[in-house]
Amino acid sequence: MRNIILFGAPGAGKGTQSAIIREKFDFAYISTGEILRSEIKNGTQLGKQAEEIINRGELVSDSIIVGMIQSFIEKNNGKDLLLDGFPRTVKQAEALDGILKELNRGEAKVVELAVDKDVLMQRLLKRAEIEGRKDDNEQTIRERFNQYDKKTAAVADYYKQKGGYISIDGQNGTPEQISVKLIEVLEKL
Ligand code: ADP
Repeated sequence: MRNIILFGAPGAGKGTQSAIIREKFDFAYISTGEILRSEIKNGTQLGKQAEEIINRGELVSDSIIVGMIQSFIEKNNGKDLLLDGFPRTVKQAEALDGILKELNRGEAKVVELAVDKDVLMQRLLKRAEIEGRKDDNEQTIRERFNQYDKKTAAVADYYKQKGGYISIDGQNGTPEQISVKLIEVLEKL
């Protein structure tokens, strides 16, 4: 069973690429950000806890996120997995390894969508106009980049050391052109 992590900074195109590749491959797909946004919309306990943190651009606690992922993987064991927005800290990556090992699923493989920061900022500000996400304002975006540098970039080093880390250009070309490269990589994993 494949365990694919789609990795990249905020605005790198993880959600967009996930939607395209899910038409081609049969993945059990989870986006931690999407789940949190739906919890906020539904006014759940978790949503109430997460809302202010997300609007500040900070990360939700590892224990909440790991709990969410663990139950998703257990429910979907037997299927290939596509993880979007997780893991975002080394703690989360270590917890994921434990879950995969427990279920005999083999190692996780990371595919990074590499995009320069100035391009990311432009994309997110443009998305703000279209989608109106509360965390897509300049101040919050800066904090999300800061959290990425402080906590999430280390996840890339973690997987580079373990092996199973591939980076593709997520910046140049249309989403469709980028997805062609991504699909090529996924077919070999
Ligand atoms: P983006 O990658 O564009 O920032 P996401 O939808 O993946 O958007 O995440 C939005 C927000 O949800 C993050 O800024 C963070 O507050 C929270 N979040 C999502 N995934 C995680 C995670 N794995 N760990 C902690 N917080 C998370």
